[in-house]
Amino acid sequence: MYRTIPLIKHHFNTVQTVEGILLLATKYQVDHLRKPIITILEGDWPTDLDTWHLAEGELKALHEAYDNLLDESAPEPCSAIALARCCDVPTILVAAFYHLSRVYDHSFRKRVRAARDENGDGDSDTEFAESVARDEHFENKEDYLYKGGRMADLELLTPEDTARMLKGRKAMVDYFVEHSVKAATAADEHECAHQNPEACSENFMQILGDIYSDVMDDYDPLKVLATIRDYLPPLIGRPCGEAWVTYENYFRDHQVESTLWDKLPEFFGMSQVEASFTTDV
Ligand SMILES: [Zn+2]
Repeated sequence: MYRTIPLIKHHFNTVQTVEGILLLATKYQVDHLRKPIITILEGDWPTDLDTWHLAEGELKALHEAYDNLLDESAPEPCSAIALARCCDVPTILVAAFYHLSRVYDHSFRKRVRAARDENGDGDSDTEFAESVARDEHFENKEDYLYKGGRMADLELLTPEDTARMLKGRKAMVDYFVEHSVKAATAADEHECAHQNPEACSENFMQILGDIYSDVMDDYDPLKVLATIRDYLPPLIGRPCGEAWVTYENYFRDHQVESTLWDKLPEFFGMSQVEASFTTDV
């Protein structure tokens, strides 16, 4: 039985592979069987922020290394949510909901997989891309997919969970915007070292506009916050370093990133998992 459990993270078929064993292990309370499966699932759907970023980096590397559709290897959120519900694994729900909120608008995973199966394994990516591009539902999606965009099987989602995700997604964005406005207000009062303070201000507002667009388009505030944390602004033709440092410091001083992570169970209405969901490793 053990041999059928995949031992690697980020496998597109993990849920389907483990669900039979996990259902039995849960029904008959066989904890030594449940535990290794849950460990694998929590690798894909982390319960702490560091592991989340680690998993994101691994998926990015996977996509860059193989240059194929990421969903050929990445796990799918709706099946993970359904498994968590039927097999009592609440710890994976929050990360699955967070990811679902990013890919909710790209709910054509099953169709892409069907197109892939139709083409057969031997056909080239180019032929597959052409067949995808011919389908009107995939117009403008090809680019998204080949840049590492991911998808969801929404038909596995209950109406209650759809509502839960939409509510959580709005709460996440509101939380980010609230803090970004405060950070921008603080940055607006920086001691400007730019030879043209108005140009500094204009450039800074343009960067903020780009940041807002990213959050509103991708629903991935954790990625945006990590980008703000690691961003090194170019020195020429941009806001003076002081404006950016003040903006960035606000997020660091107020621990916006880790607090957002800790608030995800509340945003997605899952108070029962808050106790096991923490930034502490
Ligand atoms: Zn300035």
